[in-house]
Amino acid sequence: MDLELDDTICAIATPMGEGGIGILRISGEKALTVASTVVRLRSGRALDTVQSHHLYRADLLWSSLQPQPTQAAPQDRVSRVAPQGPLDEALVVVMRAPHSYTGENVVELHCHGGPLVLQVLCESVIRNGGRLARPGEFTKRAFLSGRLDLTQAEAVLDTIKAKTEASLRVAQAQLRGALSSEVDQVRERLIQMLAHVEAGIDFVEEDITFIHREELAGGLREAVSGLTRLIESGEEGLVLREGVTVAITGCPNVGKSSLLNALLRTDRAIVTAVPGTTRDVLEEALNIRGIPVRLFDTAGIHATDDPVEQEGVRRSLATMEDVDLLLVLVDGSGPLTDEDRELIQRQPEKRRLIVVNKCDLPQLVDGSELSAFGGLEGPCTVVCISAKTGAGLDDLRDQIRSSVLRADCEPSEGALVTRLRHLTAVKRAREALVHGSESVERNLSGEFLAMDLRAAIDALGEITGEVTTDDILDRVFREFCIGK
Ligand code: GDP
Repeated sequence: MDLELDDTICAIATPMGEGGIGILRISGEKALTVASTVVRLRSGRALDTVQSHHLYRADLLWSSLQPQPTQAAPQDRVSRVAPQGPLDEALVVVMRAPHSYTGENVVELHCHGGPLVLQVLCESVIRNGGRLARPGEFTKRAFLSGRLDLTQAEAVLDTIKAKTEASLRVAQAQLRGALSSEVDQVRERLIQMLAHVEAGIDFVEEDITFIHREELAGGLREAVSGLTRLIESGEEGLVLREGVTVAITGCPNVGKSSLLNALLRTDRAIVTAVPGTTRDVLEEALNIRGIPVRLFDTAGIHATDDPVEQEGVRRSLATMEDVDLLLVLVDGSGPLTDEDRELIQRQPEKRRLIVVNKCDLPQLVDGSELSAFGGLEGPCTVVCISAKTGAGLDDLRDQIRSSVLRADCEPSEGALVTRLRHLTAVKRAREALVHGSESVERNLSGEFLAMDLRAAIDALGEITGEVTTDDILDRVFREFCIGK
């Protein structure tokens, strides 16, 4: 992505659609000059004389500049409407550099949240010297001006996208710098060690010891254990930020759609006593004990000649392959069938729960046979529920949570690795340090350790953006939308 930091960028910062208030954000050295072309303060003052971080009443003007001939198609909205009187009334706030989100001069125009008002306003600003911001460009400028580090920039996005309170808490902790400060602490320590090791290399002839081998080994051990803790936190961090996928599978009529509806507390899927009602895979998002879950209701797996049902079964099997957790549903009011047994054993390498449904009816299923099925670690967990009465659903939610998170994992507000990008960098750093420890143990020349320390320092620097490349920045900011 080309930086073009001299440009004044603008974008509608509120979601498209009708709303009470809509905000156009302008940022750049010339933000005030550009904004002045569309803003007339009610007080008559010039925009560049107002106090920073204060709200002022203003009228927004139709652009005084006509669209360029190339843009001025006869159907152009701006040329259709007579440019007389104000476009809208607004509250205007100026945030002067460096005390703004981007660290640059920022002007926000808070007008009515109509898509046309905002679109016309944005077009006017562009015609008067602004440029439409690219996705994530405001936050990228905040990063480049040192207002946020990379993990904090990512946390802005996570805050916007958070689906559960737990994910929001994690995003906020990261925005406050929890992850960066832990990573920085380890990195600082490694930089100190590197300085000593390099001094030792420079003065190798002088026979001066800058740091003792035991001290080096101890420092490396400490750093490795700090990074190991961060890697372990990734299990919780990734689950809380990205969520998990869960599929309900089972033979026709065992109550899959009823369970989906019961978990969603709505009538999303059609429930009938006729087998084969669900022919396609349904997908819904929900919050289960703080974890964002994408829940799939699959078509009943069974042999069929109907081509539509065959396609449904094919899609169901593909979904079962992809998800993080399977809920294999069986009907407890009847004995276990061979199809049930086959489904339970279908993907032994996958995390799965056996869910016995219809516990409100007399139970004919053999409980001891069910608890003998092997899971990933020991026997498969069996949960009894009634999708009809809701009995056992709380237990099922608990079991879903503990299947995807370690039992001792409580939503934490400390430093958590929340992205694969962080996790791979921390793993690279730890690998380099483990390698470095070996060279210390074998008493090899300091050059080897220095190389490993530098690799670890760089890998950790990538997390916060201390060390960065266009490629890393592109990957981080690509996820953002325009206006963020
Ligand atoms: P699916 O084909 O597996 O999606 O099953 P459905 O959800 O369509 O349910 C099949 C039938 O079982 C319907 O008549 C439901 O009302 C009934 N059913 C589902 N869950 C329960 C339950 O917990 N108890 C009882 N008694 N009936 C249920």
